[in-house]
Amino acid sequence: MQALVKAQADKGLWMQNEPVPEPGPAEVLIKINKTGICGTDIHIWNWDEWASTNVPVPLIVGHEFAGEIVELGKDVTGLTVGQRVSGEGHLVGNLSRQSRAGKFHLDPETKGIGIHENGAFAQYLKLPAFNVVQLPDDISDDIGAILDPLGNAVHTALSFDLVCEDVLITGAGPIGIMAAAVARHAGARNVVITDVNPDRLALAAKVADIVPVNVANEDLDSVVAQLGMQQGFDVGLEMSGNQLALDQMVEAMVMGGRIAMLGIPPGKSPVDWSRIVFKAITLKGVYGREIFETWYKMISMLQHGLDVSRVITHTFDAAEFQAGFDTMLSGSSGKVVLDWRNVS
Ligand SMILES: [Zn+2]
Repeated sequence: MQALVKAQADKGLWMQNEPVPEPGPAEVLIKINKTGICGTDIHIWNWDEWASTNVPVPLIVGHEFAGEIVELGKDVTGLTVGQRVSGEGHLVGNLSRQSRAGKFHLDPETKGIGIHENGAFAQYLKLPAFNVVQLPDDISDDIGAILDPLGNAVHTALSFDLVCEDVLITGAGPIGIMAAAVARHAGARNVVITDVNPDRLALAAKVADIVPVNVANEDLDSVVAQLGMQQGFDVGLEMSGNQLALDQMVEAMVMGGRIAMLGIPPGKSPVDWSRIVFKAITLKGVYGREIFETWYKMISMLQHGLDVSRVITHTFDAAEFQAGFDTMLSGSSGKVVLDWRNVS
């Protein structure tokens, strides 16, 4: 089969021939239709410090996918050949205290497909049957291919009660934009998203009924005043990993505000803890998706009015992966999808 491989410890990825994986007794073989390019894949493409210390070579990369089951391991029950599926890319164990309590997303033994184990940028992927998530007929392969990052957005956005709350999202990348759409869908009152990239803010306004603010040239305080907000934001979703954005968020919160952080700051960064203490702010770190409660909720929301389809701005045949990665590297795109159906 054809697969996109980190074949050498260097910048880039290489499309090359690899053996079709053989599913074990509790695994399924999935024929890949569509995949999403993630920020993580960009780190691996660039072979930055994180990638070069965490990702083994060679490795088939990619973890955002939709496809169909073509083979079942001998012990697999409850799934059938031909089913359209996506799946959780975090491979978890069942020995840790967290797993045994059903909190699989907190299992310290977690490994990721496309990061530690061979992934989904290929014609075929093997996956534990436990990780498979069936796609209802009304959810397309395009949306199926971005359920992983939508899950990050849903997990972060639903960290705190949003009903009638004023929500600030810092960072209008695809996950920030989808989190804004989820906050709107879940019943927030005002949803404000900030960034310094006008293309991303324009895309945010196209995807959801929210207020985009370019903090490079607009004053967040005056936007807050225009919206008639009295004190500040009740809930903050930090999606940028940018220290200035987090500082601005802390200042913009109400007393007792709640902040969920998905953005990853680059290394250690200074935090004005006294502001957080005196404002009685709750901070929550967010990792991955709740397995499988987040999947249940996002599919349910997608079937009942949540529409994130416009966050996909580009689709390329997998053979044109270079163009796909160039588009992502430009920093102005939404989600970029690769189509594997015509690969031969
Ligand atoms: Zn991802």
